[in-house]
Amino acid sequence: MGKRSNAGTPPPEDCFERLVVELEKLPGVGRRSAERMAYYLLGVSRDEALALARSIRDVKENLHPCAECGDLTEAERCALCRDPGRDASLLCVVEWPREVRALEKSGEYHGRYHVLMGRLSPLSGIEPEDLRLGALWERIRRGGVRELILATSPTVEGDATAAYIVGQVRRIAPDVRVTRLARGLPVGGDLEYADEVTLSRALEGRQRM
Ligand code: ZN
Repeated sequence: MGKRSNAGTPPPEDCFERLVVELEKLPGVGRRSAERMAYYLLGVSRDEALALARSIRDVKENLHPCAECGDLTEAERCALCRDPGRDASLLCVVEWPREVRALEKSGEYHGRYHVLMGRLSPLSGIEPEDLRLGALWERIRRGGVRELILATSPTVEGDATAAYIVGQVRRIAPDVRVTRLARGLPVGGDLEYADEVTLSRALEGRQRM
């Protein structure tokens, strides 16, 4: 593949350019890195390049929310929900599936999860009914939950989401202990960016709400 001139908008039939444009949409990837990746993909074997294409298609087609916790899984219920070794009396509420992964990496937590798929944000029109809250109340009503650990992000919206949940839980199950991850997490940051040690400490130092 020869060097193309940068004059004007690239013609849509140029599949190399289309690949660069798609790669450039990935987080943290600029035009230059996108071009480097595209040339790399041109250079590898057909099998290797198509393995990437296939895995992208697989996650889009085969991953769906776990019927129980909402984390992404290929099965009806995820491996964590099926694992009898996990403490079902502990329920950790997170905003996104990626936070389940971050907490699992800390190796400190042995309970179950509940993924909200977001946080309350009145300004962006995200209301309680847009989150997986109904499923959470149902799990609590079913009984067996001793402690609910609110691991929503340490942001204004994450705090508001936690406050809303506490209010509801006090009403439907006053005996359930509700805790919030300790501070020490990067303020305004997402859980996934916290390192494992920080996350372990935040879990250990969780406070009653
Ligand atoms: Zn699950």
